[in-house]
Amino acid sequence: MKFYLEASFRLSGDATMAEAAISDFFGKAAGILQKGAPEGQGAKITEWKLDGSRINLSIESDRFVRAHDALLRLRRPLSEILGKQYRIGVRGLDISKFEIEVESDRNIEHKIPYVRDIKYENGRLHLSLDVGPGGALGQSEIENRIPDRIVSLLEDKLQSSYGGKTEHWELLWESEPREPKFQRDPTEEMVKQGWIKHGSSRGQWIYGPEATHVFRTFEQIVLEEIIRPLGYLEMIFPKLDTWDVWKKSGHAKGVYPEIYFVCPPKTRDPAFWEEVMDYYKVTHEVPLELVKEKIDVPIGGMCYAQCPTFWGFLQGMTLPNSELPITVFDRSGTSHRYESGGIHGIERVDEFHRIEIVWLGTKEQVLEQAEKLKGCYKHIFEDILELRWRTAWVTPWFMAQEGKTGLAEMSGAGTVDYEAVLPYNGNWIEFQNLSVNGEKYPKGFTVKAQSGDALWSGCSGVGLERWASAFLSQKGLDPANWPAEFKKRFGEMPKGIRFL
Ligand code: ATP
Ligand code: ZN
Ligand code: MG
Repeated sequence: MKFYLEASFRLSGDATMAEAAISDFFGKAAGILQKGAPEGQGAKITEWKLDGSRINLSIESDRFVRAHDALLRLRRPLSEILGKQYRIGVRGLDISKFEIEVESDRNIEHKIPYVRDIKYENGRLHLSLDVGPGGALGQSEIENRIPDRIVSLLEDKLQSSYGGKTEHWELLWESEPREPKFQRDPTEEMVKQGWIKHGSSRGQWIYGPEATHVFRTFEQIVLEEIIRPLGYLEMIFPKLDTWDVWKKSGHAKGVYPEIYFVCPPKTRDPAFWEEVMDYYKVTHEVPLELVKEKIDVPIGGMCYAQCPTFWGFLQGMTLPNSELPITVFDRSGTSHRYESGGIHGIERVDEFHRIEIVWLGTKEQVLEQAEKLKGCYKHIFEDILELRWRTAWVTPWFMAQEGKTGLAEMSGAGTVDYEAVLPYNGNWIEFQNLSVNGEKYPKGFTVKAQSGDALWSGCSGVGLERWASAFLSQKGLDPANWPAEFKKRFGEMPKGIRFL
């Protein structure tokens, strides 16, 4: 990696009389420009020239002290010399050229902010940034670390999963094989028996009384076996996530292809909408192009991951030690994901129902809660649902969201997927997960602990459609084949709606 920068310091006056001092300063600047870098590495000034009230300079560097950092490092000591001895101030910086070179095995053909041009030659990407008078990249962008973000973006892209690299997956535990009681697709069977019908939207189902009672029984089990014994408290998390929430949770980095966007009307003045209403009244068609003109840009999207909106409750706060760990859950609404071609039965839907369990505290408390939850889950899947299931250590969701495939860097943080086999096609589906998210959320939403210890958090999403897919595909729809512990909790099968 190489950086090449041409810039100038803008001075408050002509510095000709200080030329010798400036020359002396740049001559000895190596210490400043190589500090923190391995021996012989860092940045160097390849050329400089005093031009009245400007000092023009060229800086070349490697990855260790990046050229723009070098420029910022020079500013204060230079100001001190010019100020003390000559009463000249350093007013600001102008950038006239900024080039970055990165090793790469392929070209990148994307528009990147502040990048004017990308060339690919001899295994290297050459980026020219947009600079100069009226150019985009100036002093404040350098101070805000824009060049570093461009480099991180490139590094992410060059090792991204879009190219088809698979995510991390490592088996942790697997249940005893259990003879399936059923071999058919449970969705088709539920449709046949009138338990569910397609909703009007893609990947959306209307659950009749029988299927709803299955879902509610799962919820009851979670309440009895997890929520009550572990002392979790119910909250209601908002189900419309603003960009602000997703910026803090990290989802703003990559969630776009999978979300349902939410747009408010430009105004609620009925006169503004009259044309749309009249069009509909006459044609019985909704004039979508016209509607498009009358709605505003999206303010965010519908609930995607359930827990991010919770953090607004704690945002900017310090938690007393006695409050920790905080253990809460939400089951107040649907989640929505645009699953595109992937939708299948109730296994992969665009609108789904989840209980989200969230906990936070010190690292030790969070890891301890995670173990307790895992214990409860194991009891449910082994002794109540009697599933054929397994767990795997996988790429954490917060990295998958950013197109990364590896594991979390913080030790102890990461995601466990719970998977169950579908006997009708032999596939394993993820029916829930459990994540220790490290400091990610408390940092993103600036939540602190009184003790000054780092705060950690975890969350676990119990997907009711996925639990139903796992359970019904292995046990079928006939309660006669259901495990006793489940049947007991399920009680009477409600009478569904019949048709002529
Ligand atoms: P998958 O890999 O199956 O798409 P995911 O990794 O996207 O799942 P997460 O983001 O980890 O899923 O969501 C947590 C839980 O939410 C899942 O374990 C599952 O129970 C549920 N879930 C996610 N997407 C769907 C969906 N499209 N339909 C039904 N349930 C879902
Ligand atoms: Zn979550
Ligand atoms: Mg998914």
